[in-house]
Amino acid sequence: MIYYETLSKDELKNEIEALENRYNAFKGQKLKLDMTRGKPCSDQLDICMDMLDIPAKDLRRSADGTDCLNYGVLDGLPEAKALFAEMLEVDANEIIIGGNSSLNLMYDTVARAMSLGITGEIPWSKQEKVKFICPSPGYDRHFAICELFGIEMITVDMRQDGPDMDTVEKLVAGDEAIKGIWCVPKYSNPDGITYSDEVVDRFAALRPKAKDFRIFWDNAYCVHHLSDKPDMLKNILTACKKAGNENMVYMFASTSKISFPGAGVAVMASSTGNISSIKKSLTIQTIGHDKINQLRHVKYFRNLEGITLHMKKHAGILKPKFDMVLEILEEELGGKGIASWNKPNGGYFISLNTLDNCAKEVAKLAQEAGVALTKAGATYPYGKDPLDKNIRIAPTMPPVEELKKAIEIFAICIQLVSAKKIMEIA
Ligand code: PMP
Repeated sequence: MIYYETLSKDELKNEIEALENRYNAFKGQKLKLDMTRGKPCSDQLDICMDMLDIPAKDLRRSADGTDCLNYGVLDGLPEAKALFAEMLEVDANEIIIGGNSSLNLMYDTVARAMSLGITGEIPWSKQEKVKFICPSPGYDRHFAICELFGIEMITVDMRQDGPDMDTVEKLVAGDEAIKGIWCVPKYSNPDGITYSDEVVDRFAALRPKAKDFRIFWDNAYCVHHLSDKPDMLKNILTACKKAGNENMVYMFASTSKISFPGAGVAVMASSTGNISSIKKSLTIQTIGHDKINQLRHVKYFRNLEGITLHMKKHAGILKPKFDMVLEILEEELGGKGIASWNKPNGGYFISLNTLDNCAKEVAKLAQEAGVALTKAGATYPYGKDPLDKNIRIAPTMPPVEELKKAIEIFAICIQLVSAKKIMEIA
């Protein structure tokens, strides 16, 4: 193992030459490998195909006799609410079932606050300034919602157990313009970390200056374990109730990466007060969402145990991919002092940090060798990673052989860019 910073200029030169040879050999293969987004692979989609075989006659009536082929039922079938209430550990009356996308629910929630305001407060669009806290690295599509609505984003560091809560507490207590914070509390996108109980309790105990401050708790990966010893996440709604803050959190989730992305079921949960206030405008927005799909999901999964068993099949496909990526990273980069990365227990990503000011160059080099990575910087507000070091690896979608090549090339690029950088400084 060679620690790059201890190498002499000559040794670095030799190292760069050897790496360039490997790089060019891959480049000559004119590859086209895509590791940009966290999509399931087709094997994962196959394991749920049976859901589409449920006979039409079984999808006609819900348990209470509702005709699922007709209009009606604004906030979801009772059995669908029961299923997702179990998954999110909330009461069925704290649930609204949405359409096919939780991102859509989050967008609508922000849009509603912008145009109509939250529980009697002035709509955000009419307030002088609106700001969101964005723990980073984070999910680029959350940040894109803020950017679209002109919401100023404040970057707060992610730690091993969640966002830097000292800063979060100070910010929300001192600034009335801060209206929200984006959280992916379990197997976070991209770090794969799960918030500790202490962090959840500190969230629940926040004393925001703005009455219309809300925590956007995007539990997209709540059942997406890769290990037999899954991370445990404390329930934020229960904690908020205990802290006398029951209206402070909106929870979101979906079956996009349980059943089918784009054809799953999305759900939000919150206090009954928030739910009834949301329903007042939701009833103007829609007569109801797709009950056939809700019933299909209920018939297929039945309960949380059904979902858990199904997610084990996903893990069976994904774990070897994650393991392979981690092995190659260790083999190529371990002990060299040029990169660090997480080893997640679940979720869809591995987050890697290069030396400062290297991530963009690595992504560019990888792209030139036919490996498309998530844009460097995408994991930060405005696409600007202040230290230009974070890269999100999405190992789920490519077939194993392609993934192996892509990670090898990626690791070569990291070594090459780091060696050159160290050479410049030396
Ligand atoms: N939240 C997070 C954290 C995600 O990673 C994703 C998908 N990449 C989504 C939401 C999107 O979910 P949906 O398909 O339900 O809109």
